[in-house]
Amino acid sequence: MSFALHGLGVSGGIAIGRAMLMSHATLEVAHLTIAPRLVDKEVARFEHALDKVREELAAMKENTEHAPAELAAFIDLHVMFLADPELVEVPKQIIRERRCNAEWALVQQMEHLVAQFEQFEDAYLKERKFDVVQVVERVVKELLGHPGRAVLKKAKGVTEENLIIVAHDLSPADVIAFKEHRFASFVTDVGGATSHTAILARSMAIPAIVGLSSARSMIRDNELLIVDGARGVLIVNPDERVLEEYRLRKEQIELERSKLKRLKSAPSETLDGVPVSLQANIELPADAKDALESGADGIGLFRTEFLFLGRGDMPSEEEQFEAYRKVIKAMEGRPVTIRTFDLGGDKAIDHQRTQTNPALGRRAIRLSLAEPKMFHLQLRAILRASRYGKVKLLIPMLSHAHQIDATLAAVEQAKSSLRGEKLLFDENIEVGGMIEIPGAALAVSMFLRRLDFLSIGTNDLIQYTLAIDRTDEQVSSLYDPLHPAVLMLVAHTITSAEKAGIPVSVCGEMAGAPKFTRLLLGLGLRTFSMHPSQILEVKSRLVQADVNELAPLVRRILRLEETARIREAVDKLNSPAPMN
Ligand code: PEP
Ligand code: MG
Repeated sequence: MSFALHGLGVSGGIAIGRAMLMSHATLEVAHLTIAPRLVDKEVARFEHALDKVREELAAMKENTEHAPAELAAFIDLHVMFLADPELVEVPKQIIRERRCNAEWALVQQMEHLVAQFEQFEDAYLKERKFDVVQVVERVVKELLGHPGRAVLKKAKGVTEENLIIVAHDLSPADVIAFKEHRFASFVTDVGGATSHTAILARSMAIPAIVGLSSARSMIRDNELLIVDGARGVLIVNPDERVLEEYRLRKEQIELERSKLKRLKSAPSETLDGVPVSLQANIELPADAKDALESGADGIGLFRTEFLFLGRGDMPSEEEQFEAYRKVIKAMEGRPVTIRTFDLGGDKAIDHQRTQTNPALGRRAIRLSLAEPKMFHLQLRAILRASRYGKVKLLIPMLSHAHQIDATLAAVEQAKSSLRGEKLLFDENIEVGGMIEIPGAALAVSMFLRRLDFLSIGTNDLIQYTLAIDRTDEQVSSLYDPLHPAVLMLVAHTITSAEKAGIPVSVCGEMAGAPKFTRLLLGLGLRTFSMHPSQILEVKSRLVQADVNELAPLVRRILRLEETARIREAVDKLNSPAPMN
């Protein structure tokens, strides 16, 4: 049966491929022995988890009014399983008889049931094993009290390029693991447009949709899918006519992308001869290759925390030094801006998951200053690498003058430890700060007095200005770069930096969205940093722009008080057709 689901398209393009459902490592549970006196408690813990999942499903059912009818049917089926003694009573017997933990007992019984379903001749009944696994996944997740790391199980005989990952949720660490693969696309039930999961999809230049709410429970392994990343539409089991239409559109997009390649060696300047630097955002050293291939002038943002995610421990100074040096060498003298760890928020390390409000908590420079040993190590590694090229040090999430002062003191301390060991580094390394907090943008002069350059992180700046959790699909429609408050803060930062003679760039997602290129040029921005895959399209917009013409138009936009009016005016700015 063919049907379509709608979500938030976070990375454009079209993918056609087979579904690969992501299961969770929660199903790889530990086998623990329980003391006899604690067995009743373990049974009670299991019953409590069952109740919680029943509640969760009941709540989901209430919200299915606008969802496809199939979803309600799936939920009913899952509720039925949760009333079945095979899943409810047998695990309790296993806990009592074998004195084991509830998770393990449940997974043992699940495997037994899956094996039984596999015996069925009838295709429909056979498929119900997936429902058993999904229900068990929910209960195990509840028992463990946190989501597990994703695990990939690939169907036989299908190549990665034809696979579309379907997951309830993916952490940035999961997606970073995908970088070693060549999947066609991924889609998730939850997530916001500028969550790090979405950002990684864009960095891999693969189509992706988040916030589909029920894809994971409605799609079966190996079903044929079409992902329309620009429109946020997922088509399941398309008929031949729809498939043909999408194959054509996919070819057209590929043709347009290959035409853009001609722009790679063209000078990056506007029609009226104003040079504009287009730099790349990268997450891993291997991404430097894509940056070069797209013609980037340098690395505007190296998100070093991704060296850390997906592994339990901290990379050593030596490991970090090698990673930084690799990027610097690869960039052959072009500037490389290395941002110190932005851990926390949605890039939480395990022990931080319990923070009440991670986006407002001990994140980025706050964490680095609270962990001076970790910070010292990273600063030493960056400084040591700085002798191999033009390195700039970038500090995320600054808000207070004393944080800048403490950071600069930590840099001095790292420098003096290297001097003591007679290790070489760039004595004049530039230190810059990210403007990601509205308070920082408003009080930008205290940054300008202390730092060598600024970089505006619009992803967080929008999140904090509008109080919208960037990872939450339920509020994603309110996440709007064209809100007048956001534009005022960006404009104020650029103008103040310009007056002070301090270089400023934008490295948030706004810089890589071609629809904002003219607006940002008109605001006075001359350095953009984005995913390598976006550089040529942004370049195609800027080589057709005349900043002298744009500046007064954009000044007028800044006076508008309504987002809808601003959007209209920005659309008008863009009306000269993009080059093909
Ligand atoms: C930003 O906030 O705009 C930014 C570039 O940093 P990150 O997306 O890594 O938080
Ligand atoms: Mg940020």
